[in-house]
Amino acid sequence: MSPALRKAGGQRPRLVAVSNRVVHPRGAARGGGLAVALLDALRERGGLWFGWSGQISDQPDSRPAVAEAGPIRLATLDLSQAEHDAYYNGFANRCLWPLFHLRLDLAAFDPQHYDGYMRVNRRLAGALWPLLQDEDQVWIHDYHLLPFAEALREQRARQQIGFFLHIPFPVPEMLTALPHYRELMRSLFSYDLLGFQTEDDVQRFRDCAVREFGAQLRGDSVTAFGRRLVAKAFPIGIDAREFAQLATSPAARLEFQRVRDPRPGRTVIVGVDRLDYTKGIPERFQAMERLLERYPDTHGQVELLQIAPTSRGEVPEYMAIREQLERIAGHINGLYAQLDWAPIRYINRPLGRRQLAGIYRASRIGLVTPLRDGMNLVAKEYVAAQDPADPGVLVLSRFAGAAQQMRAALIVSPYDATAVADALQTARYMPLEERRNRHAELMQGLLRNDAGAWRESFLDALQRCSAPGEESPAS
Ligand code: ADP
Repeated sequence: MSPALRKAGGQRPRLVAVSNRVVHPRGAARGGGLAVALLDALRERGGLWFGWSGQISDQPDSRPAVAEAGPIRLATLDLSQAEHDAYYNGFANRCLWPLFHLRLDLAAFDPQHYDGYMRVNRRLAGALWPLLQDEDQVWIHDYHLLPFAEALREQRARQQIGFFLHIPFPVPEMLTALPHYRELMRSLFSYDLLGFQTEDDVQRFRDCAVREFGAQLRGDSVTAFGRRLVAKAFPIGIDAREFAQLATSPAARLEFQRVRDPRPGRTVIVGVDRLDYTKGIPERFQAMERLLERYPDTHGQVELLQIAPTSRGEVPEYMAIREQLERIAGHINGLYAQLDWAPIRYINRPLGRRQLAGIYRASRIGLVTPLRDGMNLVAKEYVAAQDPADPGVLVLSRFAGAAQQMRAALIVSPYDATAVADALQTARYMPLEERRNRHAELMQGLLRNDAGAWRESFLDALQRCSAPGEESPAS
């Protein structure tokens, strides 16, 4: 919180964080960046974290189970199988996720999924409401919970409520393909603050609000449906200092030694992603094939180590990519492998954060080429894990939110296999001084915009919003 606000506001209000999945502090490292960032904020000011327990039960309790973890209270609800199928697997992951990532071809529009999504949002909001205190700041996370504030306002909640969208906001043409886009857009106007990953996302939201709903814009505020909210970019960061330390831990060093090939000219390129069609992994394999075609000096020398654990395995579209990847990797290895070398090593399971940090540090090139991504934290982790004296090179998709901040990376279009292959070859031969300069610039950005800065700038902005966001006739 800025000093001015702290002075003016005195005590910090209690933070109530709401996300699809609540992670116990003991398992936070596995819960990823969001869990860690939220827990830090909750620890600092005390607070409540509310959401799904991760458990499915036949007859879920209507009242949340409450557990205390130091100054943090965790309140969770189970979901029934039918709720989970419609809300999570259905509307969130088979409709909103593909649509917001520009994969209209994969979006399933099923009215029952939508009804289930709305019902679960209302049920969760109804269960949270009795736990809220008047002065709470409420922070809702991500596409699973778009209508959550509206459901809370229906319970007469007057608290300041902010929302952060971790994934991209789509262009209006895409959003309006969604049968329920009007209801969903209207529900967003129950928030006081909407946070997006990039300025482009903010712009797309504003365009949509103006074009479809005649919204009025003034500075950062957007008024429609008789309500005013503030829409701003808050690019999410990682705890770069901590990740850099992790990369020199004993477990990371062990992994480093397993991966780094000391023979001159040998290059490991690393890719780390959830197995998801937005991550551009087949296209990345094809770029690897193009590299081998165009630059014969890579044969026997360059290896792509792709780590991609299965995710959302119950969703049919995710089963298909796994097969596709195995096919392409088999084809490329069949064409180029030698007795003691194969160009692609593909590992289909999750690794610990220390192991990952060591692998990043051992890899000369980090290849992060999503077709579309809200931010992409792997790009940031790769940079944070490097040895500043002898750093690797980041090759980054222009369609990752991170590309708007990480200009010192080699920026590519993931659809252009030749351009990606050329960038890989440039990275292989990049002089030490250039590598150091690029790394120093990237690292400065990571330290400036870390997870703490992200969280505090969002909560500061929420504090500055007047609650609730009704448009007064005078303004
Ligand atoms: P997304 O949120 O879409 O999965 P991000 O790149 O923003 O993409 O975040 C992914 C997070 O998951 C990163 O913190 C990364 O370290 C972690 N992760 C990705 N792949 C693996 C893996 N194979 N093992 C462990 N963690 C992983």
